[in-house]
Amino acid sequence: MMRSQLAIASLTGIALAVLAGQCLQVGVGATRQASDARVVLVTLDGARTEELFGGLDIDVLRASLGPKDRVEDQPVYRRFWADTPAARRARLMPFFWNVLMREHGSIAGNRALGSRVALANRRRFSYPGYGEMMLGRALDDEITSNDLKPSPRQTVLEYARDALGLRADGVALFASWDVFNGIGEHTPGSVTINAGYEALVAPAESVSARLSTAQFETPSPWNSVRHDYYTFRLAMDHLERHRPTVLHLALGETDDWAHDGRYDRVLETYARTDAYLAELWRWLQAQPDYRGRTHLLISTDHGRGHTVHDWKDHGERVTGADVTWMAFASPSMSRRGEWRDHAGLQNAQVAATLLQWLGLDPRRFAAEAAAPVG
Ligand SMILES: [Zn+2]
Repeated sequence: MMRSQLAIASLTGIALAVLAGQCLQVGVGATRQASDARVVLVTLDGARTEELFGGLDIDVLRASLGPKDRVEDQPVYRRFWADTPAARRARLMPFFWNVLMREHGSIAGNRALGSRVALANRRRFSYPGYGEMMLGRALDDEITSNDLKPSPRQTVLEYARDALGLRADGVALFASWDVFNGIGEHTPGSVTINAGYEALVAPAESVSARLSTAQFETPSPWNSVRHDYYTFRLAMDHLERHRPTVLHLALGETDDWAHDGRYDRVLETYARTDAYLAELWRWLQAQPDYRGRTHLLISTDHGRGHTVHDWKDHGERVTGADVTWMAFASPSMSRRGEWRDHAGLQNAQVAATLLQWLGLDPRRFAAEAAAPVG
């Protein structure tokens, strides 16, 4: 090597080092900026594409009535029926369709438009469904039941808390179903979880203290699932008082009323959930520390049967139980309305999507994690 070449080489080395330094600074800046991001994940248990994209399913409503009942006499028919799927879904979830999806977000999963979202796991019930969202991949051999057991691996919630150096109350999971005490974390106590009929320690006279007591005085029909009302209100109070960076609001009644064959209650639950989403969204937009930097993802853990014979059910043998949907309202995603004709999405992509929004590298969470939704 000649001297001049050597000089050029070392100059190049310096230039590269300077460049690397700049990149590093850009990187640090980007990380700092990204750490201002907040994410909210909302899950509606077992919410079918039929109701979400088409509103009231008249065949299911008819099948759920007694032989002498007339469908036209049903309060839910009068409240939610309309002639087209678009009009029906807007009657069922007016905020979601007329405001959130029209003005702020997008939704994938309407198969009539060539948009497919599906589960990666083959089991098609709740723990595996939430498991793939929490872990970024299906672990069919490790998650085999809905038993209340800790997650087999570190969850995306735990990883986000570690990677961002947050306090335990900075990552919060409020759930109607008690099994979320396992689903949400591999190491008990690493994030804030309040799930099922679980008391919440809160300052006396606070909203949460009153709700914590009241949940035990208003039992639902199910031992492991409290009413979504408590889950939602406790989550809102946590938002207000603790300002978490990551919130997972896990609502359950869409699934449980369906198992019970109470289609009227299923529909009423969608409508109530819509009002919750409106309140949550408006709260987020009214807070300087959340407005414009909060990414919202809404999805479900599984589908259910498509027909009047199996709409109550889901699981490995039920056709349609793997059919899901995913909605987004994110400052970093286009407001494209309903997705059309795209490569299919999987629920396993939820973990990486949340991490990317938080400015974190999903591959450092899990090498096998499915790619973020971009
Ligand atoms: Zn279920």
